[in-house]
Amino acid sequence: MLTAVAICGAVIALVISDADPASLLTLRTVSVSGGSAGDTRYNLPGIFAFGVLAASVCGGVALLGRLVLPLIHRDGQVSIDRVASTTEAFGRELANVLAIIRSDLANREAYRNSLANAQARLVRLTEAEQVRVIASLLVAENERMRLASVDDKGKIEACAREIESLQTRLRGAEEETLKDPLTGIGNRRLFDAAMKRAVDTGNADQTPLSLIMCDIDHFKRVNDVFGHHVGDEIIKALAGIIEANVRETDSVARYGGEEFAIILPGTKQHVAKEMAERIRRKFGAKQFAIRKTNQKIGQVTASFGVAEHRPGDDAQTFVQRADAKLYEAKARGRDRVADFG
Ligand code: GH3
Ligand code: MG
Ligand code: MG
Repeated sequence: MLTAVAICGAVIALVISDADPASLLTLRTVSVSGGSAGDTRYNLPGIFAFGVLAASVCGGVALLGRLVLPLIHRDGQVSIDRVASTTEAFGRELANVLAIIRSDLANREAYRNSLANAQARLVRLTEAEQVRVIASLLVAENERMRLASVDDKGKIEACAREIESLQTRLRGAEEETLKDPLTGIGNRRLFDAAMKRAVDTGNADQTPLSLIMCDIDHFKRVNDVFGHHVGDEIIKALAGIIEANVRETDSVARYGGEEFAIILPGTKQHVAKEMAERIRRKFGAKQFAIRKTNQKIGQVTASFGVAEHRPGDDAQTFVQRADAKLYEAKARGRDRVADFG
């Protein structure tokens, strides 16, 4: 984001600078009259443009460190190839931007030298013809600089567009690392982050926070009788029912194999329990069958544990309390919701 803003800033500043071709120069010499040297002053838009451009390069490097490097070490849920190719493309774009900055600095240095040289010679000139020669040299040098600046502006705009699209790809890759590939809902990593955030907010704001843990009953048997592939479909069906029955503010994640967690910020335990009951009923009422063979699987049930956050609970303690209730539900016969009510 920072990089995109910086690059846009650079491009806008360059576009503004374009109104006066010479204004891309850090230093510029103005008006030579009556054989006396002009004054030299700093061009703030030009300095700003290239300052933000340099900042954007640093931002790009920081983004690489923040987004890309951690992804490379993550468990195989992300396409390493995709991240690697994006990293490579990012590196190429940064090299392009650096090359443009270097070429521009060299151009400006040459232009500054020409102006200084012309200025020194003008002071000593007495003949009008000699002044005209120097003036035409200055016009030619100015035109060269204008063309170079137009060329650089085009290249920088192209780089900015490319970097923006790379950022979108990186963000997509980062989102993928938080998704469970089988069900498309959040994975354990997303759960851990959402839980930490929710507990911190709950502790700071003293707002209620509830947690539902859910586990499919006798799932080993389902796998053994109907196969792992059927088991996968049942996991997906439960994920779909959970997703359809939570609110936008709730976070749903696949916590483990056939275990799900729902974080409910701003929610009292009795409301969370009602939600767990609704999900339990809908899942348990479903008659599963194998579509291809029409073979009946029948009903599959799930058990639920519900807990409300207590002041001072950290994420681990909170999960342990909901888990304890889940195992109580299992022990009491499964296909039920247990809470601290
Ligand atoms: P319980 O009622 O006590 O929960 O009994 P259970 O058989 O469900 O026992 P448990 O929860 O310990 O078993 C989990 C099983 O889920 C074991 C594992 O083979 C299966 N499993 C875990 N992940 C997946 C998966 O991604 N796909 C499939 N098909 N099965 C999975
Ligand atoms: Mg189970
Ligand atoms: Mg389990």
